[in-house]
Amino acid sequence: PALPPDVDLDVVPNVAPPGEGLAQLEAVDVSCWFGERKVLDRVSLTMPAGRITALIGPSGCGKSTFLRALNRMHEMVPSASMAGRVLLDGEDIYDTSVRITRARRDIGMVFQKPNPFPAMSIADNVLAGLKLTGTKATKAEKEDLVEHCLRLGGLWNEVKDRLDAPGGGLSGGQQQRLCIARSMAIKPRVLLMDEPCSALDPTSTRVIEETMKQLAEEVTIVIVTHNMQQAARVSDQCAFFLAAQGTPGAIVEHGDTTAMFTSPQDQRTHDYVNGRF
Ligand code: ADP
Ligand code: MG
Repeated sequence: PALPPDVDLDVVPNVAPPGEGLAQLEAVDVSCWFGERKVLDRVSLTMPAGRITALIGPSGCGKSTFLRALNRMHEMVPSASMAGRVLLDGEDIYDTSVRITRARRDIGMVFQKPNPFPAMSIADNVLAGLKLTGTKATKAEKEDLVEHCLRLGGLWNEVKDRLDAPGGGLSGGQQQRLCIARSMAIKPRVLLMDEPCSALDPTSTRVIEETMKQLAEEVTIVIVTHNMQQAARVSDQCAFFLAAQGTPGAIVEHGDTTAMFTSPQDQRTHDYVNGRF
């Protein structure tokens, strides 16, 4: 399908505060454990500013764990621990001086299952994150922000006449775009997406893919996907994760998406991208 007509970054105000903007995220030797069990072994990956990085690989190889380590989400799981560094434009988000709330504000997350607040209005869903970050805004600023973010999510035209309707009344694909809009409202510098389309139909999936390409002009994107066509369509670079029997997950190969799909260097990458396991 064509790009939704409301995704037009030329006509939306640039509400990103000065001094911020596109940032590079770099994982350095990231290892993760659940209890005694190591599930990720020294993963290093640079996710360049304004690019879309796809994390691919079979189930259980640690893609979600890696994604969660990128914004300190695993700190919510008592058995989880982590070693290594995650640098946002060079600053380690695990440094003791960086508060977790700031790390989460800078690095947003969209999950597989759309999770808007169902009883809350569409507009209030978009604004929900402002309370968490303690951001103050006037009524007019909030209205501008709601429009800006719904445009970024490719949802504005579909909902502009019913901003007071509950978020739970939207279709699955619209709910996921609402979640993207909500994530963007707190102006993250990186957006992490864990299989954001797995719960959606193909049409909604393609709309979100187009939305993502536009979003990458404002935010660095890291997406986990099982869908190889999706990785090929949306990403600039790919990292292929694998956890060989009994060993923790690690990156086998990473690089430019076209190269990964046309001339992978590792036989296992070749087999995986060609659907052989
Ligand atoms: P992927 O997203 O690639 O499918 P995950 O990161 O979810 O893989 O999982 C990596 C490994 O860590 C798997 O073996 C999984 O069973 C294990 N794991 C994931 N979450 C937990 C958890 N909360 N507690 C214990 N083990 C976990
Ligand atoms: Mg996963």
